[in-house]
Amino acid sequence: MLEDIFRPELRSLKPYQAATYEAGMVRLNANETPFPGVDGAGLNRYPAVRPEALTKRLAAHYEVAAEALLVTRGSSDAIEVLIRATCRPGQDAILVCPPTFGMYAHYAQVQGAAIIKVPLLAAAGFGLDRAAITAALTPTTKLVFLCSPNNPTGNVLKLADVAALCQSLGETGLVVLDAAYAEFTADSQAFMSLLDEHPNFVMLRTLSKALGLAGVRCGSLIADPVVVDMLGRVLPPYSFPAPCEAAVLAAMEPEPLRAAAAQVDALKRERERMATALSNNPRFTRVWPSQANFLLVEASDARGVMAAAKAGGVLIRDFSRDPATPGCLRITIGNTAENDQLLAALE
Ligand code: PMP
Repeated sequence: MLEDIFRPELRSLKPYQAATYEAGMVRLNANETPFPGVDGAGLNRYPAVRPEALTKRLAAHYEVAAEALLVTRGSSDAIEVLIRATCRPGQDAILVCPPTFGMYAHYAQVQGAAIIKVPLLAAAGFGLDRAAITAALTPTTKLVFLCSPNNPTGNVLKLADVAALCQSLGETGLVVLDAAYAEFTADSQAFMSLLDEHPNFVMLRTLSKALGLAGVRCGSLIADPVVVDMLGRVLPPYSFPAPCEAAVLAAMEPEPLRAAAAQVDALKRERERMATALSNNPRFTRVWPSQANFLLVEASDARGVMAAAKAGGVLIRDFSRDPATPGCLRITIGNTAENDQLLAALE
């Protein structure tokens, strides 16, 4: 049973009963104030318990059923809720494949869950070590976090590898594929087919990257409706602010979506220009191919590169002291002027 992956406390928990609104009724059931504020924006009222219009809109955008989608405050929130809902402190574990996004291990530590690490195969372009992951799985491994394109390496994972892992975990754990950068790849809907085939497959999407809405904090967790229901029991009511819902709905009209897609195309072109320019710069010993909006580069003097970038007014990310990425730095792709400024600083 899929429910058995979740903490026992949660399985027996009834969802919190928040005050609900009914059209045409005077609202004296939620301890709000009756004054709509100077701008009349109506922020004296709580939003809906769950952002229904937004859920429907995002479900249509990702081409899934609304019951299969949970709106979260960025995908960071989804990562935290998944761990909190499945891992019993001191008993359960998550599995991660470094080098990867640090939040998975961070929230596991907060929850007191063990972290099983199975490194990506650097020699194979940071692909998954399927055999080693399968061998490392234990009956208490509740979540396997995968990231494609992976942060910070930029490569995409193989569909067959992810499908095989869903199979290996069966109904003891969830395979979570973090697709934060999916829109920067050739196929932004890659992996979605696994949702129909594997009930233990979970996908994370975010509006923070390609849609350019990091400030609004909106993520989507897409999974079997049973998983969505269990996780919904953990989220607080009224969890998505009304102004954020309005901002996202406005951004998901056809015209802004077209503009965002054009920006993604521009960033992809800049990514290839930067990859070539950095490959020709003797400071760098390696530039990995990337399908995201950043590049992982290896430098003979990482500290010197950080200092030169900073002196030129540009911040880049230092991964050189991470044992999984020795000597490496991560460079986000900016606009043409920003990228040129970095290149000039690194001349
Ligand atoms: N997943 C990955 C792989 C990321 O790189 C990031 C942001 N750096 C996130 C999730 C979190 O994004 P957000 O919470 O803004 O959706």
